[in-house]
Amino acid sequence: MRLYAATGNAGKLREFRLAAEGHGAVEMELLPGFERIAPCIEDGLTFEENAVRKALYYGRHAPGLLFADDSGLEVEALDDAPGIYSARFSGPNATDDDNNRLLLEKLRGIENRAARFVCVIALVEGEVVRGTFKGAVGGEILREPRGAGGFGYDPLFYFAPLGCTFGELTADRKLRVSHRGQALRAMLESLPGAEERGGK
Ligand code: IMP
Repeated sequence: MRLYAATGNAGKLREFRLAAEGHGAVEMELLPGFERIAPCIEDGLTFEENAVRKALYYGRHAPGLLFADDSGLEVEALDDAPGIYSARFSGPNATDDDNNRLLLEKLRGIENRAARFVCVIALVEGEVVRGTFKGAVGGEILREPRGAGGFGYDPLFYFAPLGCTFGELTADRKLRVSHRGQALRAMLESLPGAEERGGK
């Protein structure tokens, strides 16, 4: 079974591929020609709306099942910001470093560091939405980055059960506990024949 992924984020794609490896007969690949398609306008108000929007938009170009994720970081003391605006927190062409710097600035002097990562995956076949799958994981925002792994806010996201940041985890260990790992496993388990294929 082949699944097409629609993402321009190299960090997400690595995690998508890794999740598929744990599910024997599922092949996951980037939608052919993805980079030539004009980017989808993400003007939904929730992760779910944006995930469905993206999947339907790119799904028109896929010869079979396609999925897209919308994800981000919700910080309690910032009223759940940056949320759906996580990728462009510090502006339209923001880098991960820019966003991390802004996050630290906004949290300067604030004791409550609670945050969570959220991921919603939408799976479509042509114009039909086959399902949406959600994952979330709680943590704390450190006062300085730790670790060079992962992407985005990973080096600032401290995950107490493992005693380290997501930036200090291998991709495989991150996927076992992360919001994206949870959503991906739920999607993979929803596919026909998932039981026979098993999975990590
Ligand atoms: P999207 O491409 O609109 O879904 O934006 C996702 C953004 O949320 C990324 O660019 C990161 O800033 C942040 N994000 C989502 N998932 C993760 C993660 O697993 N680690 C770190 N940052 C993440």
